[in-house]
Amino acid sequence: MQHTDQLSPAQAMLAVILEHDNIVIAAHGSPDGDAIGATGAMAYLLKQLGKTIALYNATGIPEYLEWVPLPGRVYTKPSQLPFRPGLIIALDCGDVWRLGKEMNAVFADYPSISIDHHLSNPLFASLGNWVDPHMAATGQMVAAVADAANIPLTGELAQCVYLSLVSDTGSFTHGNTSAAVFELAARLVAGGLDAAAIREKLDNQWSLPKTRLWGKLLQELRIECDGEVALCSVTLDEIASFGAVREDLEGFAEQMRRIKKVRVAVLIRQDPGNRYKLSMRSSGQDDVRTVAARFGGGGHLNAAGATIDSSDMQGVIMQTLEAVRSISLKPVESL
Ligand code: AMP
Ligand code: MN
Ligand code: MN
Repeated sequence: MQHTDQLSPAQAMLAVILEHDNIVIAAHGSPDGDAIGATGAMAYLLKQLGKTIALYNATGIPEYLEWVPLPGRVYTKPSQLPFRPGLIIALDCGDVWRLGKEMNAVFADYPSISIDHHLSNPLFASLGNWVDPHMAATGQMVAAVADAANIPLTGELAQCVYLSLVSDTGSFTHGNTSAAVFELAARLVAGGLDAAAIREKLDNQWSLPKTRLWGKLLQELRIECDGEVALCSVTLDEIASFGAVREDLEGFAEQMRRIKKVRVAVLIRQDPGNRYKLSMRSSGQDDVRTVAARFGGGGHLNAAGATIDSSDMQGVIMQTLEAVRSISLKPVESL
């Protein structure tokens, strides 16, 4: 590829895309709103560029995001893909393994680019990596690629970008809610986006099992470290006993973080196969990414996670508390 030195990162990504076809758009497994939003936004963008595309996610679309408009089905195994990939675009994927075991195994066999905003991204794609931790959401970066291609941010593409922004900024409340985020959101609304309709689809959809499960966990959560840490653990059996699903815990760590005085909220969720999923939320300078990194995980300053192999919930709780203490929460005055 020539002349990429003079191009903006978004233009450089577009240049690679324009040179390829039969493009697989993939995001991290157990996807959140940014992963699915970025996938959808990229899909609508590439369709407008006349590309043949396939969408990929190792764990498919979670129920709470089933309403998101996507042009075509989501494949969950590389062997199912309708064509040999000419290019794989990895989105919102801080590391290649987060694409899932099967995609990870074949990823290096095909040309690839990566668009992501995780600080620890090891730049795993072969033809280009645009990794910018200052971006609030990967969907924001896809919107910049659309701008570079002169594709308008309207219709389903706009809905997907908006989903990304809302998801990764905590509905425009986290520290990453920059002027650029508000400007992009304003452009989407100016282009006809119905923000209230998306909020309705995202928020007012709680199942009764989810509501009851949250009620129980809110009763049971522990407060540690002089009130500065909230911690909650949940087993698969507990989730199942309510008729709830694991995705129903999405947002629970944020909810604990809302407790007055709490600076770090920790959710430890059992996953199938002797594993625990650690989810942490903080605010200000309390850096939960370094805590997650201790367990081989990652994320962002104020939102991070890890997967821990263990069959001992108490052990995981103790290890996690110890790790959270080690980031030595500073007195608020000195922040
Ligand atoms: P979650 O708590 O699952 O919503 O994740 C919060 C943030 O941490 C997201 O930005 C994720 O990309 C990141 N994250 C979650 N789990 C992992 C993991 N196992 N490894 C690396 N990063 C993770
Ligand atoms: Mn994500
Ligand atoms: Mn993201």
